[in-house]
Amino acid sequence: MLSDDVRSTFLTFFRERGHVRVPSGPLVPDDPTLLLANAGMNQFKPCYLGERVPEHRRLMSVQKCVRTVDIENVGRTTRHDTFFEMLGNFAFGDYFKREVVPWAWELLTGHYGLDRDRLWVTVFRDDDEAEAIWRSLGVPADRIQRLGMVDNHWSMGVPGPCGPSSELHYDRGPEFGPDGGPAVDGERFQELWNLVFMESLRGAGDGKDGYEVLGPLPAKNIDTGLGLGRLTAILQGVDTVCETDMLLPAFRLVQERAGREYPGRHGGDVARSMRIVTDHARTAAFLIADGVLPSGDGRGYVLRRLLRRAIRHARLLGIEGPLLADLTGRVVGGLGGSWPELVAGRPLVERVVAAEEERFDRTLRQGSRLLESAIARVSETGAGSLPGRTAFELHDTYGFPIDLTLDAAREAGLSVDEDEFGRLLEAQRRQAHAAGQGRKGDAVARQDLYRGVLARHGRTTFVGYDRTSAEG
Ligand code: ATP
Ligand code: MG
Ligand code: MG
Ligand code: MG
Repeated sequence: MLSDDVRSTFLTFFRERGHVRVPSGPLVPDDPTLLLANAGMNQFKPCYLGERVPEHRRLMSVQKCVRTVDIENVGRTTRHDTFFEMLGNFAFGDYFKREVVPWAWELLTGHYGLDRDRLWVTVFRDDDEAEAIWRSLGVPADRIQRLGMVDNHWSMGVPGPCGPSSELHYDRGPEFGPDGGPAVDGERFQELWNLVFMESLRGAGDGKDGYEVLGPLPAKNIDTGLGLGRLTAILQGVDTVCETDMLLPAFRLVQERAGREYPGRHGGDVARSMRIVTDHARTAAFLIADGVLPSGDGRGYVLRRLLRRAIRHARLLGIEGPLLADLTGRVVGGLGGSWPELVAGRPLVERVVAAEEERFDRTLRQGSRLLESAIARVSETGAGSLPGRTAFELHDTYGFPIDLTLDAAREAGLSVDEDEFGRLLEAQRRQAHAAGQGRKGDAVARQDLYRGVLARHGRTTFVGYDRTSAEG
């Protein structure tokens, strides 16, 4: 099944159940508490809070998502990408658990044909009702697991709508890791679909056992997120999204330019670098098409980091000379049919990534000169170790990755004062974190506003749907 069919199967299924499609929200959200769109529900946050009446009670979308928290995961796991498409169906004061759970099961096992013996389910720790519904569908008790706040209670990470969730996981088989179900974190049990019963309001706290739940939302709502890349990889019998039709043209180019074939998921650093370059090129193309440009902070810095990481891994693969313009061109080739903004933005995307690649290469050359003279100085004094401050300056001013510095020092028979480097880096992180807290602070301030929502609507009947709305 091609990725286009995976998308359209989802949309047809929910259209037949009364859902109206809305376009993906932009990657740059209209929400001061959010750096980049990271879930289908983002654009409906005001609807869940009762601040806005959605155009229909049942909506569906294919949402562009970027998760910076997963940057380090790309390459380390086979299931995390920095960009992914989230298929979602949403209900506002309409259907709830009794509808959405059987539908999810029917779609996955009936329409996508997933083997029901490979599907596992998680429910929130005290959600007897959800468990009973899964049991009534024939899911055996030993393939239903109960998890706590961290895994099975969803929020946007800040005060706002939240709720218990129930998730569907796919068993990729013993060759991917030990048995034990989704409660065992690892590669074997891959989370596919999150069904959130969006019924509560989250508070500010974020303790070990999760956050404080302030009270009920004006209505009981549904929010689901199904990862298109993960599902497509399973349906196409491959291990990663890079090997699906969505990214294959780009992935092939990386292999051609590296002069070697993808060695498979056990292929160590080479496999990892190939996936990182491909993933980051896709994310960069989508970000630039949505108006983000490389810069020193915020969204622009996320983009710059991704591009630099992609270039770094391209060089590690032995790819010299410009790659990214061609590579993002291939991304547009593979995904432009579903995402017209990529096609429209293609000239800009190619120009921006080419300029950034040239700039970073220059940086690498300048950094190399600085590094070489520092190494020469240290060698003359016979100190044996490069100061952590030099490594940090290279990192901070030139964007020079620490592993490059370590490599070069090692070749010259020197070590690097990594403790000092770590301390300086940590101090810088704390500063950046303080800036990030500003954004969270906004969300915390809004908590009072949300409490107002609670006070207004309390536990009374939700009356947001008095007006009628025609299906479109
Ligand atoms: P995981 O536990 O695997 O990190 P998650 O619990 O963070 O996933 P959700 O926030 O529940 O993910 O998002 C809903 C769905 O989106 C997931 O079930 C998964 O299919 C998909 N998804 C989430 N993060 C990623 C990612 N980094 N790359 C690809 N797909 C993802
Ligand atoms: Mg995650
Ligand atoms: Mg999860
Ligand atoms: Mg999840």
